[in-house]
Amino acid sequence: MGKQEDFVLRALEERDVRFVRLWFTDVLGFLKSVAVAPAELEGAFSEGIGFDGSAIEGFARVYEADMLAKPDPSTFQILPWRSGDGPSTARMFCDIVMPDGSPSYADPRYVLKRTLGRAAEMGFTFYTHPEIEFYLFKDTPQPGAEPVPVDRSGYFDHTAQSMGADFRREAITMLESMGISVEFSHHEGGPGQQEIDLRYADALSTADNIMTFRTVIREVALSQDIWATFMPKPFTGHPGSGMHTHVSLFEGDRNAFFEAGAEYQLSKTGRQFIAGVLTHAAEITCITNQWVNSYKRLIGGGEAPSYICWGHNNRSAMVRVPMYKPNKGQSTRIELRTIDAACNPYLAFAVTLAAGLKGIEEGYDLPREAEDDVWSLTERERKSLGIQPLPKSLYDAIGIAESSELLAETLGEHVFDFFLRNKRSEWDDYRGQVSVHERDLMLPVI
Ligand code: GLN
Ligand code: MG
Ligand code: MG
Ligand code: MG
Repeated sequence: MGKQEDFVLRALEERDVRFVRLWFTDVLGFLKSVAVAPAELEGAFSEGIGFDGSAIEGFARVYEADMLAKPDPSTFQILPWRSGDGPSTARMFCDIVMPDGSPSYADPRYVLKRTLGRAAEMGFTFYTHPEIEFYLFKDTPQPGAEPVPVDRSGYFDHTAQSMGADFRREAITMLESMGISVEFSHHEGGPGQQEIDLRYADALSTADNIMTFRTVIREVALSQDIWATFMPKPFTGHPGSGMHTHVSLFEGDRNAFFEAGAEYQLSKTGRQFIAGVLTHAAEITCITNQWVNSYKRLIGGGEAPSYICWGHNNRSAMVRVPMYKPNKGQSTRIELRTIDAACNPYLAFAVTLAAGLKGIEEGYDLPREAEDDVWSLTERERKSLGIQPLPKSLYDAIGIAESSELLAETLGEHVFDFFLRNKRSEWDDYRGQVSVHERDLMLPVI
């Protein structure tokens, strides 16, 4: 038993923990949890806790269903919303292993770890900082009913006694008590829409933190009798919720994207990384934007991207190189604006990193930056600048993903096949739905 395991076993006694929740994530990014008694933990650390993988979305075919969840002791945390004065509940994220001890090919955490391993072979550590947007509604969603936002405020609004500010304060206090640092928070552009930004961390910790974040936000909402959603585009007429992600590669202590004196202080490695992300953008969009609804956010406007291009301080661009702060070389980074918060963060980070690394390996050239608002250009102007659109629907995205070697290699055959099958069936269900919009349009006239 290692030091970290010992620390956890001691903490269980000191904190009077009665339940330990073992957390992991299915292929679509839903959190799964199995609670075990503290006495089971020694065994869980050495062998894992067995479960039936065939019951988890995307995990296994029925004939190879036995899997084990092995807790990662470095992720041990007490759950604040489950721990009042009495005994407490704790959680750890797990790696999923097969009965022979090998990592499960279906575990999204492993997909990310494998890709981080490739980056490490090239000498890089991958850091991420997400800006997570979400809406708050007054009530639990009712089928067919239009949700009612908790307020009518807008971007950066500060309103006395605003529901959103109280909510953010409580959510942030809870996140910080679980070791998740928050950098910024504010009201976003839509009514009831909020944003909370997490501090830079290595990509695996960030992905774990995003899973925790979603749970904390929902728990705090429920405790205040409101409802939180990460749905990418809940309203036709208001901006969607994205998860802009700032990324950088470090070589040891040195930010590999920084080069003093270069344009935007961006090194060759940084430029090649962006070129990789742009070249493979269309292939990986079905992972970063995995729902039918995701594409309604990417329609143009609302500061969500629709075209594959990069720019400096250009908010219509898909990749943005944020303003350079003097003497802040270490903070050089690029902002990826496509991703939404309803993705599976492990898979989204893995495919984005893989695309960037490919750009570095192959020495891709970075195309010219987009200086204009790309939405306001004509189709012909965009063509002459070589600016391609992002996939316009889940259907488009799947079609492009199907022939992507990068995606198949990064996700592994099992996740790749499951994912595309699952998404095709989501599209087929959607395709058959008759919408309110169509009835409103047609019934009065035809
Ligand atoms: N909500 C916008 C999006 O969907 C982003 C708005 C902003 O952060 N400037 O990407
Ligand atoms: Mg922001
Ligand atoms: Mg924002
Ligand atoms: Mg942003």
